[in-house]
Amino acid sequence: MSEAHSSSVDRRVFLQAGMAATAATTGLIAGGSASSASASSDEPKAGGQPVLPTRKLGKTGVEVTLLNHGTVGEPAGLNRLLRTAYLEGVRYFDTAEGYRNSERVIGDWLAAMPEVRKTIFLATKHHVGTPSEMLKKLDERLAALRTDYIDLLFFHGLNTAQTDWPKSKEMKDAAEALRKTGKVRFVGFSTHDAKIAEQIQNAAEGGFIDVIMLKYTPWLDKGSALNKALDACHAKGIGLVSMKQLAGQTRFTAQHVPSIKAKGLTPAQGLLQAIWTDERFSASCVTLRNTEQIRENADAARRFEPLTVTEINELRDAVLASNPTMCPGCDGRCSLAAGTQARLGDLARAYTYHESHGMPGLAREAYAELSAEERDWQGADLAAAREACHHKIDFAAMLPEVDRLLG
Ligand code: SF4
Repeated sequence: MSEAHSSSVDRRVFLQAGMAATAATTGLIAGGSASSASASSDEPKAGGQPVLPTRKLGKTGVEVTLLNHGTVGEPAGLNRLLRTAYLEGVRYFDTAEGYRNSERVIGDWLAAMPEVRKTIFLATKHHVGTPSEMLKKLDERLAALRTDYIDLLFFHGLNTAQTDWPKSKEMKDAAEALRKTGKVRFVGFSTHDAKIAEQIQNAAEGGFIDVIMLKYTPWLDKGSALNKALDACHAKGIGLVSMKQLAGQTRFTAQHVPSIKAKGLTPAQGLLQAIWTDERFSASCVTLRNTEQIRENADAARRFEPLTVTEINELRDAVLASNPTMCPGCDGRCSLAAGTQARLGDLARAYTYHESHGMPGLAREAYAELSAEERDWQGADLAAAREACHHKIDFAAMLPEVDRLLG
């Protein structure tokens, strides 16, 4: 069946199903209220699933689905994946300038089905050198997405030099100017930088950021600076969205997590439910690369029940015992302990894009972002780095592979 033929038939069924599901929860998506995670009561009749459980996104007044469809690296067949995710009840979609053509594929979808726009929460991002630059990038983002407004515009991947932005007058002015255009509903930033705790603490202090997207792990040390910063933001009503919670972390089977298995959950479903158990987080951005992953993760959201501490610790032990490769993000203590300028956490992220995501292009981009000094781990005490890392990443085994694959 050709793409054109399938899309016209699907379009009628798609719209019937999607609209029916959305009609049942429009109040929720467009800013109704519901505690913790709520499911829609009205079952749509034609093919689509009800909208997934939602949660309030900080003090924005908007409810977003727990599952946020990430599109980093433009997964193959994204056009079809977007529609499948929508029919599976996902209503939160995430993209960025620099995610290859993901924005344009979303734009084509919205052009083909304009009725969808008002039923979804759409986030995009842009890297900028100064906060005021973002205003100049806005129309570019709108054009790529073929829409006249963005629900959430992120300053993409705040780096160490930008740590004070979230409490700066310049970023506050830029955020207000963006909202005043009437083309951006909310403003935020994403981060996986070693200064992540300070950046998030600064956002609580600044008080003008609506949403933060960050790498997060459900067993984050409760006494850590990052955890305290998350508490401060949550108390200020700043929305929190997690990312990179599965990549390189599900290198174990259900046998290793019997209590999760007993609930009929896969390791990936268990990890997502562990994140959603932390009510500070409104959603998890997951790069959904095939329809099986979409259905598996949507099922995890639909069947979400908070996990017990024992269940979360069981997952933690299984992840740590399985040689995880993705750095869940912290203050970069691995490099400090190893006595190196190399950004070991970022090298681990590039490796995971290559090996777990199966996205060599994205891996090369992440590697290319690092300077020669930040890539050079030679002479570093990798045993000390592993010891310091609360994710116990095996740098000695991984880094020669990073050089072989990306060097
Ligand atoms: S210590 Fe571990 S978690 Fe922290 S930055 Fe390094 S690799 Fe990432």
